[in-house]
Amino acid sequence: MFGWLVTRMLPIVPMGIVRAVASRYVAGEDLDSAREVVRRLAAEGYHATIDILGENAADDAHADETVQGYRQVLEMIDREHLPSNISVKPSHLGIRLHEERAERRLWDLVDDVSARGNFLRIDMEDSSLTDATLRLYRRARERSPQVGTVIQAYLRRTVEDARALAAEGANLRLCKGIYRESPSIAWQKRDDIRKSYLETARILLSAPGTYVAFATHDRVLLEQVPNIAAEMSVPPDRFEFQALLGVPVEDVLKPLVERGFKVRWYVPFGVEWYPYSVRRLKENPKMATYIVRHWFAR
Ligand SMILES: Cc1cc2nc3c(=O)[nH]c(=O)nc-3n(C[C@H](O)[C@H](O)[C@H](O)COP(=O)(O)OP(=O)(O)OC[C@H]3O[C@@H](n4cnc5c(N)ncnc54)[C@H](O)[C@@H]3O)c2cc1C
Repeated sequence: MFGWLVTRMLPIVPMGIVRAVASRYVAGEDLDSAREVVRRLAAEGYHATIDILGENAADDAHADETVQGYRQVLEMIDREHLPSNISVKPSHLGIRLHEERAERRLWDLVDDVSARGNFLRIDMEDSSLTDATLRLYRRARERSPQVGTVIQAYLRRTVEDARALAAEGANLRLCKGIYRESPSIAWQKRDDIRKSYLETARILLSAPGTYVAFATHDRVLLEQVPNIAAEMSVPPDRFEFQALLGVPVEDVLKPLVERGFKVRWYVPFGVEWYPYSVRRLKENPKMATYIVRHWFAR
């Protein structure tokens, strides 16, 4: 309860203090900082997916800048031979402004990614964008197989979505979901979300054409997913594990790398770090409590 109250106070904490503590979740403000983090992770046997921080493009110019930024990221990944792909938010491409124009921006990136033999994952945002994002993903897949998207286990619809997407041989990241959603459309209790996560995992793994990225720091799920895959005789090249930069879960992920599984870190960078960092801090009331205490102590 105290942690919950504290997370509600974050918006009034001075930005400098939030920044100091939240910096663990973000590579830095520029591309060089992302490159350094990805290099360090690669040296430890990990893969990465680079995200340019930002969402809800304010206008077309902002959304066009997002495309230019990602083109530079793709160029850097090639030049430096980094084991990384990219993750892109539809609202950062302007989907809330105009769906067709956002789609054209996505095609620019999908074509670049395909030419380079790389991969683009379309992040999933709140439920107001679920249908539009799945539409975007399905059209992008007609253009290139080098595209994937995300489904969120907390949404009640996800098990049904997973059945349809599995039949299409989809490439999906499976996460719990980070946005606040109404109980009418989303499971709220941890156990219900876990149950949905595991049911969805089984549906996706049972369809031979799918590729699944299990994005979670939940130790129960990280223990069960490899067992389920083994029990279903799913080869390790059909799935991977993903984690967010800054979340202390290496003690579980490193052994997975040593067992031969692919593990990928989500590496965000950019100047628009605030909303992303606050989401991460809200997931971690201990950290939020630390920030608020530090603020009062000053
Ligand atoms: C690679 C990746 C990509 C993602 N992409 C999306 C997306 O596109 N759309 C979307 O809605 N959500 C996305 N998420 C977020 C996800 O939906 C969850 O909100 C987030 O991962 C927390 O859920 P969890 O599965 O880790 O389980 P939880 O039960 O929330 O966490 C399990 C444990 O992990 C630790 N932990 C979790 N978060 C933190 C933190 N911030 N700091 C410190 N410790 C922490 C805690 O010890 C916690 O007990 C993504 C997550 C990952 C890992």
